[in-house]
Amino acid sequence: MVDAHQTFVIVGAGLAGAKAAETLRSEGFTGRVILIGDERDHPYERPPLSKGYLTGGAARDSVFVQQAGWYAEHDIELHLGQPVVRLDRAAHTVTLGDGTILQYDKLLLTTGAEPRRLDIPGTDLAGVHHLRRLAHADRLKRVLSGLGQENGHLVIAGAGWIGLEVAAAARGYGAEVTVVEPAPTPLHSVLGPELGSVFTDLHTEHGVRFEFGRRLTEITGQDGMVLSAITDDGEEHPAHNVLAAIGAAPRVALAESAGLTLAERGGGIAVDASLRTSDPDVFAAGDVASAQHPLLGERLRVEHWANALNGGPAAARAMLGHEVAYDRIPYFFSDQYDLGLEFSGHAAPGGYDQVVCRGDVGKREFIAFWLREGRVLAGMNVNVWDVTESIQRLIRSGHRVDPEALADPAVPLDGLG
Ligand SMILES: Cc1cc2nc3c(=O)[nH]c(=O)nc-3n(C[C@H](O)[C@H](O)[C@H](O)COP(=O)(O)OP(=O)(O)OC[C@H]3O[C@@H](n4cnc5c(N)ncnc54)[C@H](O)[C@@H]3O)c2cc1C
Repeated sequence: MVDAHQTFVIVGAGLAGAKAAETLRSEGFTGRVILIGDERDHPYERPPLSKGYLTGGAARDSVFVQQAGWYAEHDIELHLGQPVVRLDRAAHTVTLGDGTILQYDKLLLTTGAEPRRLDIPGTDLAGVHHLRRLAHADRLKRVLSGLGQENGHLVIAGAGWIGLEVAAAARGYGAEVTVVEPAPTPLHSVLGPELGSVFTDLHTEHGVRFEFGRRLTEITGQDGMVLSAITDDGEEHPAHNVLAAIGAAPRVALAESAGLTLAERGGGIAVDASLRTSDPDVFAAGDVASAQHPLLGERLRVEHWANALNGGPAAARAMLGHEVAYDRIPYFFSDQYDLGLEFSGHAAPGGYDQVVCRGDVGKREFIAFWLREGRVLAGMNVNVWDVTESIQRLIRSGHRVDPEALADPAVPLDGLG
């Protein structure tokens, strides 16, 4: 039973953590809520860091989950700039970087993920960037808005979502952009090979150069500044700045050293469908959690905004003792130039046997569906709107659909499946 004297501690003051704290209060929990984050900024949303905030379209203030005063108003004890360095499950305590020890009754880990680093010579040069934090975006934005002909070359390692979004933003500032990607197409591990050319064409039309099938092997520099980036074919690409956008790794160190079970595939803290870890008093949500999906029947670690937005509150309800089966369909969105898209579902490489498109792929106004044995696993709407619910209904139903009808824009999606 949860009573008013209990203390709930949340480690990780990002979107999932902030939304969990909000839900504890909105569900009527009157005990102590302590939210701890190692960043100095109040909890914020990361999608604008590679889109509106980076391009200059959105103000810095617009990224915060809540106004700074909201936490005190809701009696949420916020510790910022404080890493949690130890979790003692037997004593039910966490230790902060400054030595403070806090007792918990229930604990939520929302420690997120951190950018993978390039393991090549030259990564310590001043012009090598990562993009995860607001401070990273502040820096990258300063660099992009100060670019001229003498320093205008940006090399991006990785043609994933962040690499492509930054490529689009950087072209907006007039940068010369080269994207180096080991796979043969952009977004290869998410979309497979079939639809990558949509993004190759989009970016090429906007002046981005791609080096597919290549890896960076070295970043050269002088006096701390980047001079060039070298690929594994020996080619030297002019570069004044390099962005490593090669994915993120879940921040599991705290959980691991406390002996919590980690997921074998994809890393992350293993949680059940109620987002509970192998310890009944410890929960995990957001990017760091690898949750058993009750509908899809597999364990998934989802590094997307909507999963933090909904997973944090779901974990909070589970901490309060409610019945929770977290069964949201994974959902993602992206904006690049004038292309906007939403992606629902999960189609692992090799996990689907057919891709069906409805609409005009050449005009970049279409919906793509990934199918296995006639069942829709995932759907991506590109510059087509208000179809997410219908796509997710198709995925949830698990029914076989006629691929011809699926491809025909005259057949309403809601009549299928
Ligand atoms: C540049 C960028 C653009 C993105 N764009 C999109 C998009 O367009 N669409 C989309 O769906 N998703 C997007 N995402 C992904 C989305 O932002 C993440 O899925 C979301 O931020 C995950 O939230 P979280 O709360 O789980 O983790 P995080 O946002 O990573 O928050 C975790 C917090 O915990 C802190 N922390 C970690 N360990 C400790 C510790 N030991 N002690 C204290 N604090 C700790 C971290 O510093 C961090 O502040 C983007 C991500 C990035 C980086």
